[in-house]
Amino acid sequence: MGNRASSPSSSYRGRLAPSPTGFLHVGHARTFWTAFERACKADGTLVMRMEDLDPDRSRAEFAEAALEDLRWLGIRWQEGPDLNGPCAPYEQSARRTIYLDAWRKLLRGGFLFPCHCSRKDLEAALSAPHESLPAGEKAEPLDDEPIYPGTCRSAAFNLQASRDSVKILEPGQVNWRFRVPDGEAVEFEDRNLGPQRFVAGQDFGDFVVWRRDGGPSYQLACVADDASMGITEVVRGEDLVKSTARQILLYRALGLEIPGWFHCSLVMDANGRRLAKRHDALSLRTLRQRGFTPMQILSGELPAEK
Ligand SMILES: [Zn+2]
Repeated sequence: MGNRASSPSSSYRGRLAPSPTGFLHVGHARTFWTAFERACKADGTLVMRMEDLDPDRSRAEFAEAALEDLRWLGIRWQEGPDLNGPCAPYEQSARRTIYLDAWRKLLRGGFLFPCHCSRKDLEAALSAPHESLPAGEKAEPLDDEPIYPGTCRSAAFNLQASRDSVKILEPGQVNWRFRVPDGEAVEFEDRNLGPQRFVAGQDFGDFVVWRRDGGPSYQLACVADDASMGITEVVRGEDLVKSTARQILLYRALGLEIPGWFHCSLVMDANGRRLAKRHDALSLRTLRQRGFTPMQILSGELPAEK
């Protein structure tokens, strides 16, 4: 495709990680543009990764639309599902072995326990809404989840795990949670928001890393991918700040180098609610059709919803 005039001369590696569960909106556009700008300024490499782990909600048409809309905005990347590259495949749905490896390492390290709590728990972990949604409307998968009450967090399992975990090769039909170090503060410097601090067991609890329906959680997939793709700076929305604390625990447990963090402020709608894919009027698709230019979308006031 010839996106790159010359090879990047720095070791900076950033990424764009859209979920193909709907059309991208103004908020995504601004966050991805920031990621693009920072990679350009650093003379680095930008990686496109399609976060299509949710088989029920991910659609090939949305994945294609995301690439097309971002190109239309003027964003360019050097590796991705459309360009290939040294870290292929660039679709999460094709990277299961990487996630399983990470799961096994965590298990053998004694960081996990199986959780038999109800389906409701699983759904909450997958998609806890930050705001109340109209009945029947599905929440976007966000990072926040209720603090786990510790029901299945038995000390007995740990002892057993150290003996038997080597034999466990597949996660099976159960949720696996990461046991957080209660009371320990996880601190990091956000390159946009400044110093951040979250206390394990208070701000967040034991979180799911592998779901009983057969796939890794967002947290595990994100860390395994960012590490294996050599990402040096993660640029994403502010809604994921608390997830960063969880992910730092995963980096440490897996013995991986922690990247830099840059969380972008979220774009709000006229009612002060964060934009979601349900805001069709603010999707890049709709705005393009209405004649908006990339410049207007990136820098201007939000157009009113019709
Ligand atoms: Zn449980």
